[in-house]
Amino acid sequence: MTFKKAVAVGTILANMVVPLCAKNYEAGLETEIENKYHVDLIGDFQKKEVKNIDEVMKTIDSMIDRKENGIEEITLANVDAHDERLRDGDGYASATVADGSIIYMSTAAIYGKAFDKNPLADYKGLLAHEIGHLIYEHLDKEKIFSDFIEFNWKRDLKKESAVPDGYVTAHPLERDFIWVRDNEDVADDFSYIINKKHYADKDPVVQKKMNAVKGYLKMRGK
Ligand SMILES: [Zn+2]
Repeated sequence: MTFKKAVAVGTILANMVVPLCAKNYEAGLETEIENKYHVDLIGDFQKKEVKNIDEVMKTIDSMIDRKENGIEEITLANVDAHDERLRDGDGYASATVADGSIIYMSTAAIYGKAFDKNPLADYKGLLAHEIGHLIYEHLDKEKIFSDFIEFNWKRDLKKESAVPDGYVTAHPLERDFIWVRDNEDVADDFSYIINKKHYADKDPVVQKKMNAVKGYLKMRGK
């Protein structure tokens, strides 16, 4: 039971529950995350990971209404780097809304070894990216498709650099299908905003995408 649900039960029960929650709150960072953000943590998370989860969720809650964007409750599971559930994702993390909002994260992600030169090579970047995938599922895909196809069409296909024009990473371009590409693009853009990155701010196509994503999510503090 989460803290919010518990207090809604009634004064008498709430009085009994509050000291219990207060105790749990002190019991560990993981319980603190569950109470503060309704993010259930499954598996063993390193202290550094939990700290990063706290920072990402805090920023997200300051910028968007999670309930309105369909991600009020999230389950975050720490799985082995070779877990088959990561296969359908980005190799080190995956997100699914099939049975609730679940994100599978590999502990290896924290070291970013596989993401050497990726600008989002960090745990917070990857986590926000996966949360972006969960959000994408609740958005108007036709609207995104019509917006992003224009943005993507405008990018300079001939320019070969680590980060292509119009994108914040090359990751969406690894996907063949345009609708999968849009999903990756939105996830990357969401992560870029949440982690307050600025390296692609001068790219006018990136700027348009950021504004579009902020609009979809009715983001505060634009
Ligand atoms: Zn992805």
